[in-house]
Amino acid sequence: MNNRRNFLKLSGLVAGSLIISESLSAKEMNPAIRAKSGKPSSLKLRFRPYDLQLKHVFTIANSSRTTTPVMLTEVEYDGLIGYGEASMPPYLGESHKTVAEFLSKVDLSQFSDPFELEDIIAYIDSLAIGNHAAKASVDIALHDLVGKIVKQPWHKLWGLNRTKTPNTSFTIGIDTPEVVKEKVREADVYKILKVKLGRENDKEMIKTIRSVTNKPICVDVNQGWKDKQMALEMIQWLATQGVVFVEQPMSKLAVDDIAWLTQNSPLPIIADEAVQTAEDVAAVNKVYSGINIKLMKCGGMRNAWKMANLAKVLGMKVMIGCMTETSCAISAASQLSPVADWADLDGNLLISNDIYDGIKVVDGKITLSDIPGIGINLK
Ligand code: MG
Repeated sequence: MNNRRNFLKLSGLVAGSLIISESLSAKEMNPAIRAKSGKPSSLKLRFRPYDLQLKHVFTIANSSRTTTPVMLTEVEYDGLIGYGEASMPPYLGESHKTVAEFLSKVDLSQFSDPFELEDIIAYIDSLAIGNHAAKASVDIALHDLVGKIVKQPWHKLWGLNRTKTPNTSFTIGIDTPEVVKEKVREADVYKILKVKLGRENDKEMIKTIRSVTNKPICVDVNQGWKDKQMALEMIQWLATQGVVFVEQPMSKLAVDDIAWLTQNSPLPIIADEAVQTAEDVAAVNKVYSGINIKLMKCGGMRNAWKMANLAKVLGMKVMIGCMTETSCAISAASQLSPVADWADLDGNLLISNDIYDGIKVVDGKITLSDIPGIGINLK
């Protein structure tokens, strides 16, 4: 207990606001003291809960909310700190409690080489099934750390051309025609709009947007359409309205219907709810045209990179998406974005209390920097 109190005092943190997964002495926490002791460095994980404040009320089928819980993580090694994050929208089943429980089991002190990401992440994955956001929060912090050690951003370590980043789409929430028109005007800087469909007023929503802009539109149905014939007719109409793709048109369980839809659709059909991790990619090949990769679904950057490459090899389209997140997780996902056909990375633009400065959207386009790791600084 004394050790923990010392750590909190040393780091200037309010007691209780930061939880440490292991008990550390003041000596261990201070790199200068540790270096003198000659002891090899090991990895240390810290985490603390945080609530993101949404700029606008977020409404889905039968609930509304104004906050999203996240867990902020840090992995320290040899005086450097990598930052990570788990985002837990309530409908996905993780929470401050489940993530804290999971992270309390993680003992990184057994690892002395942060470059052994494959082994470290396999260990984290072996601790429990599921818990994908919790796993992502450690994975992202490890990637940030490794990038900082070699002083390079991950898009460079992956060998990606930063000029090939896509435009990010910006979501226009469902509302009255007047409010929708106003939101479209406010989204002037974004080159692609995203719209959630799957209700009675699908055509009306598209027509309202089309009355004020000709920008391309991505459509996300969130499994909302029930009949494949009706879905095809709607997609054929959407194709005449400047829509570029349709995400998860029907239930992820309606595999045969979706395969038929993909075969007959004039637009690419993208899997979101139907694809979680790298293991799912081969299963959705030939059923969908492409996949929506999210760090919080797949457990972080390492798995996201594997999924993107596997999808490309299979000839599938790649989309990179997000939850409501700070610039931490958004910047981590952005490092991968040069391989994506489309990006939906607007989660940090929807919150008012981001604690990080990260990648910027410039003239609608994701714009990467030379900042090492995942490309962020604490504000
Ligand atoms: Mg989706």
